[in-house]
Amino acid sequence: MSAHIVVLSEEIANQIAAGEVVERPASIVKELIENSIDAQAKNISVEMEKGCGSIRVTDDGTGIDSKDVALVFERHATSKIRKIEDIYQVASFGFRGEAMPSIASVATVELLTKRQGQTEGTRAYVDAGVIKEISPAGCPAGTQITVSNIFANIPARRKFLKKENTEQSLCLDAVTRASLAYPEIRFRASVDDKEVFAVPQSAEIKQRVAAVMGMDFSANCIGVQGERENWKLSGFISHPEFTRSNSKNIYLFVNRRFVRDNSLIHAVLSAYRQIIPPRRYPAGVLFIDLPPQDVDVNVHPAKLEVRFKDARGIYEMVSGTIAQSLAQSSGPKDSFVYRLTPRGESFSAGAPVQPQKYFNKYPPAASRQEISAGLTFGKVVGKIASVSADDEQEKGRINFSGFSYIGQYGGTYLIFSADDGLLLIDQHAAHERIILEKLKKESTQKIASQRLLMPEIISLTPGQITLFAQHIDLLGEIGLDVEIFGKDSLAVKSLPALLSAAGAKEIVLDIADKLQEQNKASSLQEKKEELFASMACRAAIKAKNDLLPQEVNALCNDLENTPFNTTCPHGRPISIKLSLDEIERMFKRK
Ligand code: ADP
Ligand code: MG
Repeated sequence: MSAHIVVLSEEIANQIAAGEVVERPASIVKELIENSIDAQAKNISVEMEKGCGSIRVTDDGTGIDSKDVALVFERHATSKIRKIEDIYQVASFGFRGEAMPSIASVATVELLTKRQGQTEGTRAYVDAGVIKEISPAGCPAGTQITVSNIFANIPARRKFLKKENTEQSLCLDAVTRASLAYPEIRFRASVDDKEVFAVPQSAEIKQRVAAVMGMDFSANCIGVQGERENWKLSGFISHPEFTRSNSKNIYLFVNRRFVRDNSLIHAVLSAYRQIIPPRRYPAGVLFIDLPPQDVDVNVHPAKLEVRFKDARGIYEMVSGTIAQSLAQSSGPKDSFVYRLTPRGESFSAGAPVQPQKYFNKYPPAASRQEISAGLTFGKVVGKIASVSADDEQEKGRINFSGFSYIGQYGGTYLIFSADDGLLLIDQHAAHERIILEKLKKESTQKIASQRLLMPEIISLTPGQITLFAQHIDLLGEIGLDVEIFGKDSLAVKSLPALLSAAGAKEIVLDIADKLQEQNKASSLQEKKEELFASMACRAAIKAKNDLLPQEVNALCNDLENTPFNTTCPHGRPISIKLSLDEIERMFKRK
């Protein structure tokens, strides 16, 4: 290797820059679409040859003046900014003047363009970064760019590409993302002349989201709307019943720019914690809009990542707004009518009668004697296919109308019957959810706590004591008053009133574990909710515990009025239904 320093040729410099901007064919699709959007196009068409042999993007935007065409392929040539301060106010996708020269340096590019209102257009032909021809040409107003021989001159880069199908689907992802943020633009995409994606211009984002994300999502989504400082969050997220196996279906946009941001994804997921099962993910299309000076978009070569001035504030706006939307969509119905009708005692006849330790504050409901015949089974668990907004509230909620209580099985499962099926409820899972939601609701003010008659002394490791000492205020806010005694013990003075039936010691030991596991980056609300979940688990009635009918009565009453009443905080189901149809099929009667 020579020890002399040389200035690299422009061609090599462009190829190096291209390595960052044009990682794969999908990057070309993304950059070309963004240029078309910046040119105010109303129609954008992406044509691909199978395996991304060539990519053509056609738009009906402003077009490029013939005397500017040569500049398109020069590095740092842009029509979008003039001075450095502009990039902190920038509203366009592009501003670095890097994409076109980068693409041209690793492929063959044919450009056809005509400025709106001009009579003649221009054709340019560029091969491996060298302009071979610029000439007048007849073409419609707008711009058409055809890129072929992609990476032909850079075999090393070609080797890194994935299977043809994968690259093609990544190209289509680029179209999908752009289309989600620009409902006013009509997009179409084809592969080998076969149309694979088409969305018409839509007046509202809602219609575009439905067209792109599909019926399944739009029938199972919840609108999100929130504000903080002068930032805004809007969009749609999936109902907790509708989960996916990865987080790829969460589309995030910052000022209409698609971004991949782990912290924002985490903010979304945090709102679903304790609502959906572990390793399942929601889907969503979310738009964060904020003044350009509050976000730096110039931190990533392909601008896929951004840096917020106040990342913590944005995180809280996202997780808080979504949590609130989920809670509202799952809120208890006002017109609740209680019609549970116990018919018999527990299956375990002869078992000793248990004191009513969990539900003694509930008087047995008068309506217990009613028998409500003829009510349908359809509302119990499971999705309702309808899209209408009125049904949104009903989706997946447990409702006991029409059911009679038959009894308890194994000290754990409550069995109900209706004309058209059986319903099994896991009593622990149900009670856990009820307590968690009550604690969450109370925590919006101050959690009611109950003083213990005698403080309970609990010994812990010095490490655990340090953690408790650090979190003493947080614990106070959730209704747990502790006082630290020396290096290895503490006294519990009061507990959240809701948990009075549970042992202070177990609760404190669980909390010690939780504090140890907790992610330092979690927000205060997340930390609280994790502690609530662990307390709810301790305080909930256990399996193998006989319940009196009036206890069952109260549990069902509460459950109907609890948000997210289909799963326990660990994501396990609270209820299982067996329809008459299924039962008859099992007995081969059908
Ligand atoms: P940037 O988008 O950062 O300005 P590019 O290299 O992507 O840089 O494009 C260079 C310039 O070419 C743009 O600033 C714009 O003036 C022009 N241009 C590229 N594509 C189009 C298009 N589809 N319609 C109109 N002008 C375009
Ligand atoms: Mg650009």
